[in-house]
Amino acid sequence: MALITKKIKGTEDVLPKESYRWQFVENIMRKESQAYGFREIRTPVFEHTELFARGVGQTTDVVQKEMYTFDTKGGESVTLRPEGTAGAARAVLEHALENEGLPIKASYFVSCYRYEKPQAGRLREFHQFGLEVYGTQSPAADAELICAAQSIFDRLQIGQLRLEINSIGCPKCRANYHKALKEYFEQYKGELCDTCLSRLEKNPMRILDCKSPICSKIAEGAPKITDYLCEECEKHFEAVQKYLDRAGVKYTVNPTIVRGLDYYTKTVFEFVTDCIGAQGTVCGGGRYDGLIEELGGKHLPSLGFAMGLERLLMVMDKQGIEIPDFNECKLYIAAMGESANEKAFELAKALRECGVEVQTDIVGRGLRAQMKYADKIGAKYSMVIGDNELEQNKATVKNMNTGKQYEISIDKDFINSFMQMEISDEQEFKAV
Ligand code: ATP
Ligand code: MG
Repeated sequence: MALITKKIKGTEDVLPKESYRWQFVENIMRKESQAYGFREIRTPVFEHTELFARGVGQTTDVVQKEMYTFDTKGGESVTLRPEGTAGAARAVLEHALENEGLPIKASYFVSCYRYEKPQAGRLREFHQFGLEVYGTQSPAADAELICAAQSIFDRLQIGQLRLEINSIGCPKCRANYHKALKEYFEQYKGELCDTCLSRLEKNPMRILDCKSPICSKIAEGAPKITDYLCEECEKHFEAVQKYLDRAGVKYTVNPTIVRGLDYYTKTVFEFVTDCIGAQGTVCGGGRYDGLIEELGGKHLPSLGFAMGLERLLMVMDKQGIEIPDFNECKLYIAAMGESANEKAFELAKALRECGVEVQTDIVGRGLRAQMKYADKIGAKYSMVIGDNELEQNKATVKNMNTGKQYEISIDKDFINSFMQMEISDEQEFKAV
């Protein structure tokens, strides 16, 4: 039978030896966002296709080209989530979370699915961490959200990340802006890509987000949304900046940021880096005051961001940021003979119950092979049990790095004896 060893294009495995890097980053995200009052929400990996069509927006690349959509055996159209916000918003509505007090603050870790052209930093299955705030129109919420993202990057010690912010106004100010954009881009009808030509009719702002070099060059000269903001949106944007200044968060205003999803209003922002090539946006977010209504709910102004975990890990790698691996086999108990094996099994269990990582032979290998394995996995201490040790209820523990040896008891005093040994070994280490 042919071996099935190929993963699907655009997907990646996280192997046991590298998962600590993910866990480290995820733990910091969890911790930092908790400090801001966010609690995790978990939603299904697939939803009714209609949810994304409405929530993400019909004119977006995501909905038009990138979704994994299929009919179930029951004839229902479902879609693998391309992002995390639509599902979270659906859950907020479905469970009427607005009755539990506003604002609602939710965080999420999701795998996302988009049929894109795989390249560095662009996958078909990727992972996002995101924060969502529902039920506030205050600019303080926008600034707080941005601060939370910044705190995470600070904790991760990521440098050279630019925060770029913009306001894309509300439907009121956008009407005039769309008109101005249309007039501008119509002069370049002969040069725009096909997708942008259709965007010109349906949603000219999307052209500002086009990745084609020609379109983005043309977009540089386009009218700026910030010149078209209504009074309310302008005031809101100024206030957001004031709060950011107050928090000491550095940013630049970039009037070309519009974000790839349709639901955004007012504040939009991105954290961008130049150190991982073309796919340099590690975090994107903003306000989406119309989303909940779009999904059939009441007016519930909301905002959020999502950061791409793969891209973030790439940045950390590129910047040489060391990620501590807290996993360590503390003790390997090698055993010779059946009764020794049973004893090792029992001792390992006892230590594990105290939260210590212990390994012992479950393969049935000889002593030499066991010790080789202990070395391979980087066990800190090793200990051998044979007939003599069983008889005397004592064994020798060896620090695999220093070669120092200690005698400990392996009877009912084992746990105590092991812990004592560790303390004196560490003191010895400090004394050197
Ligand atoms: P891009 O402009 O790079 O296509 P986007 O605007 O489509 O990004 P969002 O939908 O805002 O991205 O998603 C938020 C974050 O998720 C991005 O900033 C990025 O870090 C990550 N991301 C988006 N698409 C992918 C992908 N295909 N592969 C890996 N990460 C991705
Ligand atoms: Mg995209």
